[in-house]
Amino acid sequence: MVENLHNQLLAKLKENGNAYDLPTIERAFQLANTAHEGQKRFSGEPYIIHSLHAAITLADMSLDTATISAALLHDVPEDTSTTLAEIDRQFGKEIAFLVEGVTKLGKIRYPKYAEENSSTAQALYIENLRKMFFATANDIRVILIKLADRLHNIQTLSAVPKEKQRRIAIETIEVFAPVAHRLGMGHLKGELEDAAFPFVDPKGYAFVQKSLEHTLGEHEIELHDLEQAVIDLLNQNRVPYTDIHGRTKHLWSLWKKLNRPEYNRDIRKIYDLVALRVIVPSVKDAYAALGIIHQSFRPLIGRIKDYIATPKPSGYQSLHTTVFGPSGKPMEIQIRTPEMHHDAEYGVTAHWAYTESGKPQEGVRTKDRRFDWIRQLQSWQKQIGNSKEFWENIQNDFFQNRIFVFTPKGDALDLPEGSCVIDFAFTVHSDLGHRMMGAKINEKMSPITQKLQSGDVVEILVSKNPKGPHRDWVGFCKTTVARQAIRQWFRKQSRSNNLLLGKKLLESELRAVKQTLPDSWSKKETETVLRKLQLKNPDDLFVAIGQADTTPSAVLRALAPEAVLIPSKRRLPRTLQPIPLPSPSLLMTAAKCCSPKEGDAIMGYISSAGRGLMVHKESCGNIRRRKNQTRLLRLGWRKSDIRMITPVQLMINGQDRIGLLNDITTVIAKAGVNIENLTVESHKKQTAAVSANISVIDLDELQMIFSLVRQIPGITNVQRM
Ligand code: MN
Repeated sequence: MVENLHNQLLAKLKENGNAYDLPTIERAFQLANTAHEGQKRFSGEPYIIHSLHAAITLADMSLDTATISAALLHDVPEDTSTTLAEIDRQFGKEIAFLVEGVTKLGKIRYPKYAEENSSTAQALYIENLRKMFFATANDIRVILIKLADRLHNIQTLSAVPKEKQRRIAIETIEVFAPVAHRLGMGHLKGELEDAAFPFVDPKGYAFVQKSLEHTLGEHEIELHDLEQAVIDLLNQNRVPYTDIHGRTKHLWSLWKKLNRPEYNRDIRKIYDLVALRVIVPSVKDAYAALGIIHQSFRPLIGRIKDYIATPKPSGYQSLHTTVFGPSGKPMEIQIRTPEMHHDAEYGVTAHWAYTESGKPQEGVRTKDRRFDWIRQLQSWQKQIGNSKEFWENIQNDFFQNRIFVFTPKGDALDLPEGSCVIDFAFTVHSDLGHRMMGAKINEKMSPITQKLQSGDVVEILVSKNPKGPHRDWVGFCKTTVARQAIRQWFRKQSRSNNLLLGKKLLESELRAVKQTLPDSWSKKETETVLRKLQLKNPDDLFVAIGQADTTPSAVLRALAPEAVLIPSKRRLPRTLQPIPLPSPSLLMTAAKCCSPKEGDAIMGYISSAGRGLMVHKESCGNIRRRKNQTRLLRLGWRKSDIRMITPVQLMINGQDRIGLLNDITTVIAKAGVNIENLTVESHKKQTAAVSANISVIDLDELQMIFSLVRQIPGITNVQRM
């Protein structure tokens, strides 16, 4: 078995005509064979057959010596006692680098929770996982090895324990096949999908099998007749061809098509179940062949597609037509040149002829502009490695304002830029959010309102006796998932509780800005507020606040838009201090479009839920276009005596209890003060010492923090270090 595959690999290498360093490949095989000695696949076969299969797949694609060798060694560092350092020593940097890349890529997993989340969140997640795949692999060859690895794994999936099968199969269809597709490798994509199909959707698979049983044989006979007729036509008209063959549609793509509403799972409506492929030497011959075929077989209106003149976004080129075949049934014919055919099957590797050094040949590659983005990615990676700049480039061009963060287990999670720990927790699982009492970012205690950066590893600390989320969290959330989960939680609380709580919250807010309390509102005032917030009666209003559907500040705005401009200093550059207003309950953000600076004439725009007030220059075109006048606010500047940010270290002592850290971070964050760092030491006798690094703009702010922290239950002492 092993011997057989080993020979098969050598034959492939000889066959594809590249100049291989065979002794190196042989040494790689020997090392892998020894290292995996005694290890078995789930099927009971020797482990090395897996490595050989991956290498054969890559030899099929004409990949270079380093790639073939790395494929043979790809599971060695992870699964055997032979280390990466040893591979480096014996085979050098390039091969070791590829093996390391494959090992790293293996750590990106398709997490369970992606299946539980809503389908749009899931779709977005998966899309980013694919991009992540490209970003993590430092070299396109790493991805190719990973794909070859997965192909063999999915083809041998039936031997794998049942509980693992589905996840691997879904991951193959959602991540690996689309990656192959993006690399233009149609052949590999089809193979991956069809092998995964029975495990992802056994019923669908059975349905397709059964439908084909009744129709495929018939189709193949007709295909054969059509093939003969086309050969005769081309010969008679002296149009040259290099190959004519039939192809059957891949099962998974057939299933996807059957499920489109216009096909209604009726296999008789699928005209490209089998198709005839006519390969001709040149583009001119392709159009000539199409014309000749149409003279004898009537084409179906609307089914002639010229992907040569207008290639598909993937770069796919071909002429497609559906004609009424010899027996009168519609059949698809695809006409293309050998280059187009090779491209469609092998994609990115099709144009990758390798020189002896293993480096792709420049001249050959530059013809094909389809994969420019991969080259761009690679050249960045080469130039700047794993630096911050690299991440920024990646983000701007590929990730479009998304960030990637990780669970402690290494699951990748993508979030919109500006997301904080709260978003993270609720995106992983709503229950995790509800039980959250604190968080560590990169192993450091951090406030749950802290904005996350790509690459952060976030650990959520959970409470055994969860009190549930805080209403204020909604204002910090960037994701709908988190906001909905928080609101849902409050909605589940009893109506009477929410009513009482909502009333209390509203009253304290109104008192703070010296507005009349709801009980003494005029009838007109009450009506205005209810109408603007689309609520029926005052009780509903309190409940809405109680369950975080609306906020006291929204009520204030509804009550008297002009009087309640309440910008907090939070999120604004420290030098940007708008006119002080009574209470710090509205977020303010300097608009990116015009970046207002101190002294500019400015306007504020009350943005939709959760985003607070956007501050623009008065001259900014974006603010001038705003139609909704009631949301516009005139703003001015306050002269502040101290504008310097002063870093301060606080030492806070108190009784150790669940939620203590979170209470401290929440109080400080709510006051609009930045927390740079927070560490906690628990002592004997249930006491805790919390050290907090914050930055304040003046003494008043520091005083305010002192008094706020002192009010937290259990705090015994606060001092400045
Ligand atoms: Mn493997």
